[in-house]
Amino acid sequence: MLMKDVFDKLKKLQDILVKKYSLESKLKDEPKQINTSKELLERMKKEYIDKNQEYDNVKSTVLKLRTDLDDAVKSRESGEKSMDNITTHREYEALDKQISEATAKEQDLRKELQKQEKMLSEVKENLDSYEAMISSQEKDINDHQSDIDKNLESYNRELEKLKKEEDKIKPGLDSEIVFKFERIIERNSKGIVAVRSGAGGKYGVCTGCHMILPAQFVNEVREGENIYFCPYCSRILYYEESTDKDETFYNFDAGGSLIDEDDDGYDENDENNDDRDEDEVSENEEENEDEAELNEENDSEEGSPVDEDSES
Ligand SMILES: [Zn+2]
Repeated sequence: MLMKDVFDKLKKLQDILVKKYSLESKLKDEPKQINTSKELLERMKKEYIDKNQEYDNVKSTVLKLRTDLDDAVKSRESGEKSMDNITTHREYEALDKQISEATAKEQDLRKELQKQEKMLSEVKENLDSYEAMISSQEKDINDHQSDIDKNLESYNRELEKLKKEEDKIKPGLDSEIVFKFERIIERNSKGIVAVRSGAGGKYGVCTGCHMILPAQFVNEVREGENIYFCPYCSRILYYEESTDKDETFYNFDAGGSLIDEDDDGYDENDENNDDRDEDEVSENEEENEDEAELNEENDSEEGSPVDEDSES
């Protein structure tokens, strides 16, 4: 397969993979959105149980007070009735005591009952509004859940389509390259980027990480006989003629500072720049070896500096 076709395939695959990974992360994250609401609902239900227990307690207190009050009333009334039939002063005193005690008790009980009934109606009101809150929360969650389910369904449908396209594109591509490519895209969203030459071809720049790459390496990318990975960001590189001459890039050696436009930022023998053409053949041979090492290293380390093990 021509390298250009490989790059075209990889670019298409990249578009598919970017969509695929975004859908997969939505599939994973969207169901979580509802978790806070579900936790809140659980807390509300627990509190409702406590409040309901409180309501039951107050209610039984009220019932007991009503019975006690009935007894006190009966005791007072029977005392009052018996008053008509008494014959001795002693009987009168005993009866009078019974009546006044029953009356006092009756008054106390009425007061307490009033208090407890008021509390009961407050607790009941509170309980009712809690119940309403819970059912509205449940409804919200159900609505949200069905929205999420719908979304997940459409994501899955979309993923199936993407999978089919992916299966169409992948044949013919080196599976190891594809594996690396997928890892890079998962982390950086772009796995294949252009190299553009700057300063009249003295160096090239990776448009993925904006690092300056050696001219010889860029030449190899331009010749396109192999797949080359950026030694800095591990992305697959293809060559593209530079269009914007004023573009400035970060120079790795200078610790990320912007390079001077007059400085090519790469060549160590600035003063010899003009004579460079004569030496180029021998110099390039040296660089060739360096680049071969660079690429080997890149291959064996699974495209570091991207950390392959940190699955987060
Ligand atoms: Zn790069």
